Amino acid sequence: MADITVENLQKRFANFTAVKNSNFKIHNGEFFVLLGPSGCGKTTTLRMIAGIEIPSSGRIILDQDDVTFKRARERDIAFVFQLFALYPHMNVRQNMAFPLENEKFSKSEVKRRVEDIAKMLKIDHLLENGVGNLSGGDRQRVALGRAIVRQPKAFLMDEPLGTLDTEFRELMCLELRRLHDRLGATTVYVTHDQHEAMMMADRIMVMNQGEILQVDTPERMYNFPNCKFVGTFIGTPPMSFLRVDSTVRVTDKSIAIQGVPVGIPRTHETAPSVLLGLRPEHVALVSSGGIPGTVKAVEYLGSHQIVTLETAAGTVRARVDKNLKVRLDDAAQALPDASRVLLYNASTEKLMASDYTRLEVAKPEATNLEAVRGAVAHG
Ligand code: ATP
Repeated sequence: MADITVENLQKRFANFTAVKNSNFKIHNGEFFVLLGPSGCGKTTTLRMIAGIEIPSSGRIILDQDDVTFKRARERDIAFVFQLFALYPHMNVRQNMAFPLENEKFSKSEVKRRVEDIAKMLKIDHLLENGVGNLSGGDRQRVALGRAIVRQPKAFLMDEPLGTLDTEFRELMCLELRRLHDRLGATTVYVTHDQHEAMMMADRIMVMNQGEILQVDTPERMYNFPNCKFVGTFIGTPPMSFLRVDSTVRVTDKSIAIQGVPVGIPRTHETAPSVLLGLRPEHVALVSSGGIPGTVKAVEYLGSHQIVTLETAAGTVRARVDKNLKVRLDDAAQALPDASRVLLYNASTEKLMASDYTRLEVAKPEATNLEAVRGAVAHG
């Protein structure tokens, strides 16, 4: 079990800075996900934590121990790669036993640990099989088993599910999270897939171009993205941003878009031009009193529809009733929920403080399953 503290960490490759002055702390027992597009520096960050890549500057502290310049094998950490290099000439048992035999554990201890972990991963019936004929999922489990038997302080995983098909990936996500909860070890997990991150993480760190943009819980990351990039990267569909080129002051209760007053939460900052950040569930389609536009796309999703509207201030998506009759090129108007609008400074694209951002995420009234069941029965 371990806290991992990263201080002023930088990595340069010749003239290119892959990781820029990173500061974050991963708590003991946490499932922490590094998320971002290809090339943003997540793998390089993970490799520095693992001891595979040497930082250009900064420190990495594992519990109280400064491990910045310690070799990988001197850190009590297990690295799980995307492509599992299982030893092809060994069977499952031998593959899993290998790290323990390397560290000279007694035969009986090796046997006990391998069999316990195999049972936990539901591969105990495969222990004497060769690894060549295993399914992709079973190979992943053997590789995980091999990492777990050492009982390291932390697990580092670099897109471990990258090669699996979608359905199987989802199952493995849930298995990984369950395993994490059982072992209680710190897990640092790299992915470019927001769904994996939202499904598994206690906290997510979003990176772009070598910089950390936000470190937060999935819930806060969705509700309060602290910049335009995060609002776009997290959420399906992404957050919409409407541009308003007029000064917004702390006393304003609304701003005008094409002459239409649109309500906003009281802002605590002033900006000469702003972006209105809107999640689709906070936008209604109306016939008057909203921001005028034209329907450019309609996506029917069974329980609801996502309608994309082109307006003079930009594209906005609305989540609407599944039965609403709406067709391409229809004229329609978007009405944002004034209490849920997020304001971003248009030049920095950073979230501005407002009455809404000061709120904790509003909890729904029915928070336990019994209450939900009652509502369904009576509804
Ligand atoms: P991906 O998912 O594509 O691996 P990533 O977010 O993990 O993306 P990194 O692998 O950390 O990104 O790479 C960050 C940047 O550093 C990339 O532009 C990459 O080309 C560059 N980079 C990584 N390793 C080296 C290296 N050994 N030499 C030069 N440049 C490198």
